[in-house]
Amino acid sequence: MTVNKVYSLSEIKEMLLLEEEEAFALYEEANSLTEKLFGKSIFVRGIIEFSNVCAKNCLYCGIRRGNKNVKRYHIGKEDLKKIIMDAHNDNFKTIVLQSGEVDVYDNDITEVIEYVKSKCDIAITLSMGEKSREQYIEWKNAGADRYLLRIETTNRKLFENLHPDDDFDNRLKSLMTLKELGYEVGTGVMIGLPKQTEEDLASDILFFKENDFDMLGVGPFIPHNETPLRNIKSVNMSMVLNFLSAMRLVTYDTNIPATTSMATLDKEGREKALNAGANVIMPNYTPQKYRESYKLYDNKICTKEDAEHTMEFTKKTVERAGKVLVLERGDRRR
Ligand code: SF4
Repeated sequence: MTVNKVYSLSEIKEMLLLEEEEAFALYEEANSLTEKLFGKSIFVRGIIEFSNVCAKNCLYCGIRRGNKNVKRYHIGKEDLKKIIMDAHNDNFKTIVLQSGEVDVYDNDITEVIEYVKSKCDIAITLSMGEKSREQYIEWKNAGADRYLLRIETTNRKLFENLHPDDDFDNRLKSLMTLKELGYEVGTGVMIGLPKQTEEDLASDILFFKENDFDMLGVGPFIPHNETPLRNIKSVNMSMVLNFLSAMRLVTYDTNIPATTSMATLDKEGREKALNAGANVIMPNYTPQKYRESYKLYDNKICTKEDAEHTMEFTKKTVERAGKVLVLERGDRRR
């Protein structure tokens, strides 16, 4: 195996186009690099979807502001502190606080981060969209460790078509600001968007490499019935796996999660992802009563489970993949 090899756009594109046996060889190569770097260890991060209120109208998203058929909720700061402390007691060493994009709760989140950090050692990742530089600084000073902000696609035109409220340059600027402020920064893309090409996807992977992001999330496109993209077909799992493996080989030591959306696309999607380059699993730790209302796409799984059983289910998934769940913060290892 070539260590930390530099790949060209056309080499990445070729990986994305592989089928059947050749694709399996690619997954094996990505898996053996993952095991060389991390052993069989899989890091776990609990996601808490604390609000589905969103001021934006991204075309693919089930909680976009234009969807009037979604029951909106927001978990208040005192409840949120308790949920995070419960996650800590359940042995989570990292949690991800995720929400739609609005500014009204930003001060509450500063208080929640300060409280949690004064009580326990748990890594806090925020996934709350584009904010001002001052806001990112405030949360960093409060103790936030990481920030996830997906670029969704590096094809500017495609980005603009899908995000009526967003500016591509501002998204890039936000990512660079987060890096400059010392966050561990995660980004990622959606795969299977209308008019997206293999060349676009290969460019996305080069973008991750060139900017040395720490965490890379892949969202397979799955349509939501209450969005303008309701009639577009879901991407197939083999493209998701090809992309994951290519991402592992090109970006080398990044943290790459197997997500709930992969299990929605394919019953064994997470196990397959954990054998094709993923080294992180991100189960849903949102209290069960809110989960039905946080559907970015249709048929999302895990909406009926109790948070208290989340770690147990996750351990079983990881074991089915022949890996070992490790209870660590899972910072990026360079
Ligand atoms: S993708 Fe994010 S910003 Fe866009 S509508 Fe959905 S929650 Fe809001």
